Amino acid sequence: MISELLDGNAAFGKNEFNTHLEHYQRIAHQQSPQVLWIGCSDSRVSEDVVTGSKPGTIFVHRNIANIVAFYDVNVAAIVEYAVAHLKIPDIVVCGHTKCGDIAAIEHGVEENYIADWLLIASGAKAKVDRLALERNLTREQKLDLLVEENVRLQIQHLKMFALIKNLHKKSALPRIHGWVYNVDTGKIRVVEDGCPR
Ligand SMILES: [Zn+2]
Repeated sequence: MISELLDGNAAFGKNEFNTHLEHYQRIAHQQSPQVLWIGCSDSRVSEDVVTGSKPGTIFVHRNIANIVAFYDVNVAAIVEYAVAHLKIPDIVVCGHTKCGDIAAIEHGVEENYIADWLLIASGAKAKVDRLALERNLTREQKLDLLVEENVRLQIQHLKMFALIKNLHKKSALPRIHGWVYNVDTGKIRVVEDGCPR
């Protein structure tokens, strides 16, 4: 597999990079991405590929279950760099269907660190447990709803960052969008449109 990656890079250089040399020279000088993407580490959800974006468009943070954790200096530093230095106007929190990590939240997980990490999304599970009972949802419907509610919960976390709260006192930027990518269809569904409320 590793040699295939290097072969792929050679093909990228020959085809994509050389064909759009002006673009790559411009971003080599300075990046000016317009979107911060907070997504799942899942290999099926490559933000550049599924949105048809070239390198230089999206600033990226991906982790297990696209979580925004309060005590995570990593995500906080990325958000700060994105909005304070790069002046990125739009943040996308993107979950996806058939997320193994979301299934682990639903069914419980044994591994120590993964269990600790997924606790941050447990508020979404409590809400979905209640809704699933009320609406008599199937297991699949419940997991889809949990993916969506986890995106909403992580957006709430993001909006509670002091940095974001202070920016939102002055303007509607950064807009925060919630999306769900469907791994069966390749399509993105908007669950939060980024309008301030
Ligand atoms: Zn996932």
